[in-house]
Amino acid sequence: MSLSAVSQVELLNQNLADLPNDLNVSFEFFPPNSEKMYETLWSSIERLKGLNPKFVSVTYGANASTRDRTHKVIQEIINKTTLTPVPHLTCIDVDRGELLDIAHQYWDMGIRHILALRGDVPEGQVKPDIHAEDLVAFLRSVHDFEITVAAYPEVHPEAKSAQSDLIALKRKVDAGASQAITQFFFDVDAYLRFRDRCATIGIEAEIIPGILPVTNYQTLLKFAGPQNVKVPHWLHKRFEGLDHDPATRQLLGASIAIDMVRLLRKEGVRDFHFYTLNRSELTYALCHTLGVRENCIEK
Ligand SMILES: Cc1cc2nc3c(=O)[nH]c(=O)nc-3n(C[C@H](O)[C@H](O)[C@H](O)COP(=O)(O)OP(=O)(O)OC[C@H]3O[C@@H](n4cnc5c(N)ncnc54)[C@H](O)[C@@H]3O)c2cc1C
Repeated sequence: MSLSAVSQVELLNQNLADLPNDLNVSFEFFPPNSEKMYETLWSSIERLKGLNPKFVSVTYGANASTRDRTHKVIQEIINKTTLTPVPHLTCIDVDRGELLDIAHQYWDMGIRHILALRGDVPEGQVKPDIHAEDLVAFLRSVHDFEITVAAYPEVHPEAKSAQSDLIALKRKVDAGASQAITQFFFDVDAYLRFRDRCATIGIEAEIIPGILPVTNYQTLLKFAGPQNVKVPHWLHKRFEGLDHDPATRQLLGASIAIDMVRLLRKEGVRDFHFYTLNRSELTYALCHTLGVRENCIEK
């Protein structure tokens, strides 16, 4: 083997765990709607909590019952763990009074960080004239919350243009958001270009990549299209013929996501957000790859 081939192999196999351990990870969960899903969620939280995530976020649903479940999960995380829970909050069909109550309730529970979103327009409804920046400004006016917002490397599906979407993100940051988590993506270059464009327009907030480890390709296709997330042909080829083979899909999902986080890490990314889908296995493996190990992060 030639010398250059050896160093290439070494580069490929470079153990990210050997790099300076200055990473932050965060995990996203959704509120369970059955006893079985509740157990899955909690066994995942138990497994992942030792990795010392900077925070764990809990999504917010489109109707009142899902919303109550979000509050319940947040309260339970506070009661049972030392994790920092970050509730997602949407504003699309909630009045100001209700938002005020929620903001006070969260503040009184000890919540100091919220992921502020507009939310999706319900099917058949006219798009209301409200944006996430309004919620950011509102929450900041009520309490001294830290605010995270959503960002879209491949452009939000309703945006008039990539530039107007970027300006919308800037407005959210100018309204008081301190960081943004991206929609999931598979095109690392798209994320890197987006990060550059954010810097060019003067967005100084951290643009945290949202990583979705894929295990069910068919479900991914249903999610990705409406969200304007490009599913590259190579991903299609990798999962081809595996619809009935979850074990192989799991291995491939891990391998694809590991490649992504390795690339992002080498591009200087220090904060990673994982869409866990309430499962721990792949997220745990990704953190391990990045050198985020149990009880080894000193904060
Ligand atoms: C990390 C993350 C977490 C999420 N969590 C949830 C969740 O828990 N629950 C949930 O229901 N959904 C969630 N979503 C989905 C999100 O609610 C949808 O993508 C929604 O359609 C947009 O929300 P937003 O906060 O990005 O909205 P906005 O930032 O308001 O943007 C929405 C659209 O309006 C445009 N826009 C913004 N401001 C202006 C303006 N001033 N003038 C004109 N156009 C403007 C934008 O370009 C964009 O096209 C999440 C998304 C991400 C990336």
